[in-house]
Amino acid sequence: MGEYSELMNCEVKDELVSRLIALNNKLNLLSPDLVHGDEGRAEVQLERENLYAEIKHHRAKGHDGKPCPAARQV
Ligand SMILES: [Zn+2]
Repeated sequence: MGEYSELMNCEVKDELVSRLIALNNKLNLLSPDLVHGDEGRAEVQLERENLYAEIKHHRAKGHDGKPCPAARQV
């Protein structure tokens, strides 16, 4: 019975997603009115793009070349 839910959970995916949420929050906090706002935003956006690519890769073949079982529930 527990096997099903264990299969649908993935700590790696959870961590990647929580990192993505943190970056989104950071981006929201960076005001474009600040002097270095644009620079900071560009940096965070780049970081976010890299993370997106990592998540995409993990979902597609992050488990020994196989799709992440947790990706389907998103
Ligand atoms: Zn996974």
